[in-house]
Formats: sequence, structure tokens, C-alpha cells
Amino acid sequence: MKEFKAWLFDGDGVLYLLNQRIKGGKELINHLRSERKLIYLISNNSTKTLDQYVSKLQTMDIHIPKENIITSAYVTAEYLAKNYDFKFVFAVGEGGLTDALVSNNFLITDEIDKIEAVIVGMDRAFTYRKAEIASRAILRGAKFFATNPDKSFPTPEGLSPGAGAMIATINATTEQKPEIIFGKPNKYLFEKALSLSGLQKEEVVMVGDRIDTDILGATNNGIHSILVRTGVSSDKPIDILKSEMNTYGVNPDVFSSCEEIYQFILNRE
Ligand SMILES: [Mg+2]
Repeated sequence: MKEFKAWLFDGDGVLYLLNQRIKGGKELINHLRSERKLIYLISNNSTKTLDQYVSKLQTMDIHIPKENIITSAYVTAEYLAKNYDFKFVFAVGEGGLTDALVSNNFLITDEIDKIEAVIVGMDRAFTYRKAEIASRAILRGAKFFATNPDKSFPTPEGLSPGAGAMIATINATTEQKPEIIFGKPNKYLFEKALSLSGLQKEEVVMVGDRIDTDILGATNNGIHSILVRTGVSSDKPIDILKSEMNTYGVNPDVFSSCEEIYQFILNRE
């Protein structure tokens, strides 16, 4: 693992569950930093602002600068600002998504006939009314985008609905799919990480808990990957994980947690 110059870490289910830290993340990241590796958080979770991520990580004694935090919300807003010319948008999402949109000069409105695009992420204040506004706007011709496809979200108490559950609701009413889903496994967050680091894909490794997003995305983008059996993969027996890997055609290294990666690196040195 010496050859990797940058490590991309998924957050939920790898470094923490909600605000509860997962053992080994801090130690692994501090060790890699001491070896002058570049560290990025690369998260599909669109709920938090970049400053909120910095402080959340700091409470766990994990120090990742704001410039190294890549979330689906900011990658989505930046891409839309660069590639489309609409202004009025409706957001199904939390503070991370609305902050990203506003800081990219979009105007957020719930007036259905003004809405030019609907952007959907995980929203723990999701309501029937939000689904209605989003669906009617899309049926009137607004564009439909999503930050990330995750169907579920791991918490210390178990799985909760993720952005995919919100997308599915709007899809049921409109019979339309998002024009682009920005998060992993798609290329956008990986491209952002590569461009920020200035490295080649062979010099980068991704650590994640989801085969269908972190591992598949890394593989599709030519990036080596490590599956940790925490988060969504924590309850799955190894033979189930192996068969999922076969289904997706991926072959990550498998570790029980960041703690085990840390021990492995120490033992090799
Ligand atoms: Mg995860």
C-alpha cells in the first residue's frame, strides 16, 4: 500500500456512523498523514456543509482540510453551474445541498411554474408536499438531477432511507429518472479527487463500505479499492459479499475495518 499517494475515504460506515466514530479511522488517517499521504473525504452524503464536515471530523480527532472534502452536493452544484444555464431550482435535501446550490448562485424556489430543475438528495425532513412540488415541476418540464443513488444510510440503530428512497418516490409519480446522478459509483466525485490531487489514478486508493457505490465507482474509474466490513457491509457474511462482488465484477482488498488496515500497514513497516 506504500505506492498510493492519496487515500480517498468514504465517511458514513467507514469513519463514522452518524456522530459515532468507527474504531481505527483516526489512527489510520493520522498515520497516513505522518507519511505525507494526501487524504480526501469523498462522500455521497449531501446533507452537510463543508464546514460542518470539518467540525464533525474534528470532534473525532480526524483532521481533513475543507479543500480535501468532496461531497456529492458540491460536485453536483458546481457541475450544474458550469454546464447548464438555469437559475431557479427546487432542492429536496438538507443544508449541505442548499448551501452548495446557493453558493453556486442558484435561486431556490418552491413556486412550481418557476422551477427549472429539481435536485434531489437525502432529506430527513422529506414530506408529501416536497414530493408533490418536485414531481409537478418535473412533469411540467423541469430537469431532474440527483446527488447520489444510495438507497440506504447506515446509522448506529440500523439502516435508514437514503437519497435513493427520495428519488424512488419522485420516480414513481413522474415515471422519470434523474438526468445525472452525481455521486459514486459515477465518475464525478472521483474526477474531482483526481483533479484536486493532481495524481494519476494508479496512485490513488479508495476505502469504502459499499460495493455498489464506493467499490464499483473506484473500479470503473481505474482506482484500486479496499472494502471495509463496517457500515452497510457489517452484517453481511463474507460469502454474500463475495457474490455481490462477482455480480458487480469488482475485486477489492477486504479488511474488517480501518483498524485492520492500520495494523496491516504497521506490521509491514
Ligand atoms: Mg458509506
